[in-house]
Amino acid sequence: MTAPDYAWQNGRLVRWDDCVVHARSQGAFWGANVFEGIRAYAGPETMHAFRVDDHLARLRRSMKSLHLEIGHSDAELKQACLDVVQANGFNTDTHICVVAYFDEGPNFDPLAYTTSTGVHITAIPMPRSAKHETGAAASIASWRRISDDSMPPRIKTGANYHNSRLAQHEAVRNGYDTTLLLNQRGTVAEAPGSCVVMVRDGELVTPPGTSGVLEGITVATVARLAEEKLGIPLRRREIDRTELYVADEIFLCGTLAELLPVTSVDRNPVGDGKRGPLTAALQSHYDDAVRARGDHPEWCTPIAPAREEVT
Ligand code: PMP
Repeated sequence: MTAPDYAWQNGRLVRWDDCVVHARSQGAFWGANVFEGIRAYAGPETMHAFRVDDHLARLRRSMKSLHLEIGHSDAELKQACLDVVQANGFNTDTHICVVAYFDEGPNFDPLAYTTSTGVHITAIPMPRSAKHETGAAASIASWRRISDDSMPPRIKTGANYHNSRLAQHEAVRNGYDTTLLLNQRGTVAEAPGSCVVMVRDGELVTPPGTSGVLEGITVATVARLAEEKLGIPLRRREIDRTELYVADEIFLCGTLAELLPVTSVDRNPVGDGKRGPLTAALQSHYDDAVRARGDHPEWCTPIAPAREEVT
């Protein structure tokens, strides 16, 4: 990857190489941060960020849970996200990461760090997954998903992604594209970086927010589109592992993954082993929505074209 020119840190645009945190910051050392991944899409005329307000609202909820306070409003952060894309002159699909972190403090006293915090925002071009149509082969991870009584998955903190990393590495080493984690009760939770939706007998099902999952924005978008475009409600209920083996269709849902078909689970073909019709229909409606061609312009924030110079 060629490094972008600019990032944003603590209130201003900075050169990419100057966007740094200290090695002893709590964010870098312990993963004591919270973050959001947001996509910006190239629309017919301008770039625009998708559901940026919803992402920043979830960032606030994660910060509240960790008592992490920053000196920037949501309006400032939103503008900063747009500024980073604009300053770099990106005109293709882009992934923006907003990270709020605990910074340096005197020792291992969690309370000593509550006032020393920072925020950085970076963005890189990020094309759609190559498996968008052909689908991904998933395993069931031998690792269980973290749970609300120890490492709450509802809080989008970097530290949680150790669990995702263990599961994804295991899957890739064993020849799979991705993996699905079961929660501590043994029912389906989510993939390492996305939620999961199953189609059974024409019904769309996803695990509830109390199943050891992040409260996903993409799955909420899918719920709206499925209801409005197809008249199918998204049901939230626990999913057993063996339901995945007999499901008609399965797809992952995440900002980065978008809607990604899962065409096998533990080498068992899902349906006929190809992307299913409901998945394809929802992918198409999702694409319309993110490219500002849908019925929800309120989800899309335009980004002005690149300026000549950035101070
Ligand atoms: N679960 C996990 C663990 C994730 O990292 C993500 C990506 N943010 C999701 C689910 C999907 O969330 P969203 O649709 O809001 O991106």
